[in-house]
Amino acid sequence: MKKMITAHVISIGDEILFGQTLDTNSHFLAVEFAKISIELIQISAVQDKKKRIRNEILSSPADIIITTGGLGPTRDDKTKYVLSQITGKALELNDQALKWTQDYFENTVKRPMNKLNRNQALVPIGTIPLHNKMGTAPGLWTEFGKKILICLPGVPHEMKFLMKNEILPRLIERFDPIFIFHEFVQTYNIAESELAEILTQFEKNLPDHLSLAYLPHGKRIRLRITGHGDDSQRLKNEIQEQIEILISLIPAMNFLSRGTLSLTELTATALKEKNLEIATAESFTAGKIAEELTTESGSSVYFKAGIVAYSPEMKEKLLQVPQSLIQEKGVASAEVALAMAHGARNICHSDIGISSTGVAGPNPDSFGTPPGVAFIAIVSDEKEKVYSFHFPELERIPFTKKCTDLAIQKLYDFLR
Ligand code: AMP
Ligand code: MG
Repeated sequence: MKKMITAHVISIGDEILFGQTLDTNSHFLAVEFAKISIELIQISAVQDKKKRIRNEILSSPADIIITTGGLGPTRDDKTKYVLSQITGKALELNDQALKWTQDYFENTVKRPMNKLNRNQALVPIGTIPLHNKMGTAPGLWTEFGKKILICLPGVPHEMKFLMKNEILPRLIERFDPIFIFHEFVQTYNIAESELAEILTQFEKNLPDHLSLAYLPHGKRIRLRITGHGDDSQRLKNEIQEQIEILISLIPAMNFLSRGTLSLTELTATALKEKNLEIATAESFTAGKIAEELTTESGSSVYFKAGIVAYSPEMKEKLLQVPQSLIQEKGVASAEVALAMAHGARNICHSDIGISSTGVAGPNPDSFGTPPGVAFIAIVSDEKEKVYSFHFPELERIPFTKKCTDLAIQKLYDFLR
C-alpha cells in the first residue's frame, strides 16, 4: 500500500559551517528525493563532532536518514564511528570493501595503499558497504529500528554516483510512496500581499491534500500548487483544475505564464513570436545583457549583435554617439543611453536596440556621476524608452548583475 515516506539529509563537515563550502550535496539530494516522491522533511548541517552527528541522527523523525561527509580516511572523518555507536556493532575489516579499495588503488590511483586507506574498509558489522567506483570510501547502508541510515562521502561526484547507482534503485524497489506533484503559475507586477488578498478564498477552498505557496523573485511571483495523493492521474487532474481556477483569478495584466520559465526565456519567446531582431550596446554591463539574451538555444534567430563600447571615444566610434552629447550630458545619462541604443539599432539594422550606461564604481566617473547610477534605453521604430536607476548600496558585481536583470525585465515589458 502506498504511504508517505520521509527523508532527512544531514550534511557533515566543519567547512560547511565555517562558510567555506556551499552545501550543494543537500540540494542534489533534495532534487533526487523529489523525483521519487519521497518527502524530504529536513536538511541539516552538523560539525565534525561525534556527539553532534549522533544526536542529529537519533533525534531525526524521518524514515530515511542520509548523511554526506566524514567518510574519508583522516581523523576528522567520524561518521563510521558514530554508526558503530548507534548500532552497537564493532567495526571490522570488510573483505568486499577492502577489495574495492584495493582495486581502486591498483587501477585508478596507481600507487600502493597505506594503512589509512585500509581503514576505509572498516565497516560496522551488519552494515552493507556500497561500491563507490569514483573514490576510496564505500557508501554505507544500515537499518536500525524502523529506520534506514545511509552514509555517503562528501565529495560531490562520489556522493552523486552512489545516490544514482546504489541508493535510488534500492529505495525505488523498497518503497511505494504516495505521489507528490507540483505545478506552477507565474505572476508579474503585482505585490505578494495584493495577490494573497485576491487568493484568500481560493486558498481556503483548497482540499487538504493540496496547498498553495508564494515564491517571489523581483517583480515576478511563482505560485506553486503542491498535491499529495495515491492516484497519479486523479491528482494530476485535481491540480490542473485548481491551476485553471487560479489563473482565472489573477488579473490578466498580471498573469505571466504557466510553469517556471524565466524572464529571459519568456523574452526570447516574445522576440521569436514577434519576429523581431535585437542588438545590444553596452557600457558598464560589458556584454552581460548580450550573454543573457543568448543563453537560449536558437537565439541566433533574434540576436543580431552585441557591441561593448566602454570608453567615451568608442561610444562615438562604434555607436555614432556624438562626443558633444557625451560632453554636455555626461557619459552616464539618459541622452547617451538613448543614443547608444539608436546607434546599435542603426548599425546592426535590427528592429530593437537596447543599451546600458552607468557607473559601476567604486569611484565616481570622470564626469562626477556617483557610483550606482545606471541608464538603460530600449528603442524600436515605434517607440523609445529610457529607464534610470540608482543603487548606491550595491557593489560593482551585484550592481552589474542587478542592472542586467532589470534590462531583461524592461525589455520584456517593452515587448509585452
Ligand atoms: P569528506 O567526505 O567529509 O572528506 O568531504 C570531502 C570534501 O567534499 C570536502 O572537502 C568538501 O570539499 C566536499 N563536501 C563535503 N560535504 C559537502 C557538501 N555538503 N556539499 C558540497 N561539497 C561537500
Ligand atoms: Mg569532512
